[in-house]
Amino acid sequence: MVNLKMAECRKCRSRNALTETAGGGFCSKCFKEVIELRLKSSLKKAVPKKGELSFIVLDSLSENFLKRVKFRPFKLEFHNFPDVTNRWSWRIPFSPEFASGFSGDYYVVLPWTAEDSAEVLLESLSSQKAFRLPSSFIALWKDVSEEEAALYASLLGIPWRKALPRRNLSFWKPLMENDSSLLFGFQKSAEELIPLIHDLSVKPDEV
Ligand SMILES: [Zn+2]
Repeated sequence: MVNLKMAECRKCRSRNALTETAGGGFCSKCFKEVIELRLKSSLKKAVPKKGELSFIVLDSLSENFLKRVKFRPFKLEFHNFPDVTNRWSWRIPFSPEFASGFSGDYYVVLPWTAEDSAEVLLESLSSQKAFRLPSSFIALWKDVSEEEAALYASLLGIPWRKALPRRNLSFWKPLMENDSSLLFGFQKSAEELIPLIHDLSVKPDEV
């Protein structure tokens, strides 16, 4: 039976656009493609064009994406991300204990969404200790909101949970709720601001 109330997909014009706000008016196929284009773009920007690649992933969704993405050959290792639900520990991946578990050259793929990245940037700015992501870390999901990541995961049937607890962002989130461009805009501004306060820069483990 044709459901006349179904909205049209913005991309392929099929009449089965997702009803969730995070779906952005796309059907599930186009929504996945849109998210994967953003992920591919983040990935390409983060790694050199040539040479061997090894990734350490901390969450199932990143692992799933990297295994399916048409990218050049690479090695992949899964490392269960510590449960940080009850503590403020975005620094864990930068700790010597974490790094001691691995040898050789590798990129750590952080499961941070746009909200997680904004949270870390806010913490960094409010403590006046500018934090810059070391080049061996990839914020693969930084251009994807947590609602989009959760929807993307559910379409693939993969369990998903927030990587980091909310502390600073809870104040700002209601303002950003109705307009995710504010969230991405904030992130971009903060990333531009941080190099300007470079004099205050410290290593992650000193924050
Ligand atoms: Zn579509």
